[in-house]
Amino acid sequence: MSKFIFITGGVLSGIGKGIATASIGRLLKNHGDKKIIVVKCDGYLNVDPGTMNPIEHGEVFVLNDGTEVDMDFGHYERFIGTEGEGDWNITSGKLFLRLIDKEREGKFLGKTIQIVPHAVNEVIDWWIELAEKHKPDYMLIEIGGTIGDNENFWFIEAAHRLSHNIGIDNIAYIHLTYLPMLYNTGELKTKPAKRDIALLRSMGINPDLVIARSHYVLPERIKHKFNELNLNPKQIISAIDMNNIYEIPLMFYENGMVDSLSDVLHEKIDVDLSKWEEVLNNMKNPTNKLTIAICGKYTDLHDSYASVVEALKHAGAHLRTEIEIKWVETTDIESGVLSIQDAIGNADGILVPGGFGSRGVEGKIKVIQHARENDVPYLGLCYGMQLAVIEFARNVCGLKDASSKEINPETENPVIDILPEQKDITTKGGTMRLGAYPANLDKGTKVYNLYNSDVVQERHRHRYEVNPEYHETLKKNGLIFSGLSPNKKLVEFIELKDHPYFVATQAHPELKSRFEKPAPLFFGFVRACLKRK
Ligand code: GLN
Repeated sequence: MSKFIFITGGVLSGIGKGIATASIGRLLKNHGDKKIIVVKCDGYLNVDPGTMNPIEHGEVFVLNDGTEVDMDFGHYERFIGTEGEGDWNITSGKLFLRLIDKEREGKFLGKTIQIVPHAVNEVIDWWIELAEKHKPDYMLIEIGGTIGDNENFWFIEAAHRLSHNIGIDNIAYIHLTYLPMLYNTGELKTKPAKRDIALLRSMGINPDLVIARSHYVLPERIKHKFNELNLNPKQIISAIDMNNIYEIPLMFYENGMVDSLSDVLHEKIDVDLSKWEEVLNNMKNPTNKLTIAICGKYTDLHDSYASVVEALKHAGAHLRTEIEIKWVETTDIESGVLSIQDAIGNADGILVPGGFGSRGVEGKIKVIQHARENDVPYLGLCYGMQLAVIEFARNVCGLKDASSKEINPETENPVIDILPEQKDITTKGGTMRLGAYPANLDKGTKVYNLYNSDVVQERHRHRYEVNPEYHETLKKNGLIFSGLSPNKKLVEFIELKDHPYFVATQAHPELKSRFEKPAPLFFGFVRACLKRK
């Protein structure tokens, strides 16, 4: 029987429920090779975050199966290593679609369909189906939003009612709450958390553990204040603000999480964090420092590039290198507010991440030209590869007006064109080329040496590609296609020969980088930046 572990959050949003869930998963992971799956329930009515502006919702994370999911899946994968599946992200949009489809099929004939019990039962059925399909030892279920929000009510109600289906002994409820500090006295206040727990109980959920986020470790005296709610100090786990999210599993461990979890799950949990600690030690004791310029469009909202930043940090940790990020807004270069020199300064490496549309594009192309001509290590991801091809076509192959049809539909030289299978697609949700696809790598290339494999699978999210009509021209002028799709039509990886590191890919390798196992192209990039420095 799987154990269901729910993680809810209260008092306010943004206190780190996703990281807390990922950290609990990491603590449970090496315990006798237990199988873990992590489910996230999101209240919004969009089917998935794929069509939301990153400014509204942060990065869109893409799974192997091509589902666009909440960015918390990035934390789960980076911490735990389990690769998620599309139906592990249950949004209200997906839930109601499923319910209404069933109603149309006549599955509820004669009945009035209501949130309680029908939507709630649908959630329970979904969770039980996942448990039956994957047979995990632990199924972590994070419920998005804050207790008391209207839009996650059906998930909370389902978490409460699940105990009737599978018995309370197979369920653990963990609640993350917040203790504000009064700055003039330095005192931690418990009342908001107590009211929040009372609210949770009024919804039928009695937390087994409370993670109390606060500015400093809770003194026993403060923990005892929760006695009046019938919670003993061992049920209160202190979670302090941390600059480095990778310290959180260890911080939980040190603050008694594992003992308390053992009590709650009725089994002794032995934890193996040795590899994690080793990488963390390297990260905390760097011997080098690099500045990497990330040149993009949403650079004030760092969450829209979360996986890219984490992948750089992972590679840095494995090379004992601290990574400082310089955010470069390419619209400023395009408009002439910033010169390349001012924008890039003496950054040790340049990275152009994924992106859409034409705003800021000419600035990105200038930055790429600067990297190519001045031997600055360059890593291009998706749009960052397409724009590198445009720059190469313009400035090396002499195709002055080379562009992408996405940027200039009238261009005479569409070196980047829409994928043939994308031409007739008019709907937006989940219709890009999404998910993991294989690429065959060419022996002897930098990319091959980094992956050390003939075939690799990376995840994708795009509609455009390098136009096959220009393959010959690009190759003749020295652009190396280091990896192609199995039918050889689609360019997946490119690189340049006489350059310390000029590598780009149509894929998003950042999505598969793990704290304990960095993504090869990021590792190669950081190593090249170090070498040049
Ligand atoms: N806009 C480009 C495309 O659709 C690149 C997408 C991306 O960078 N994710 O192909």
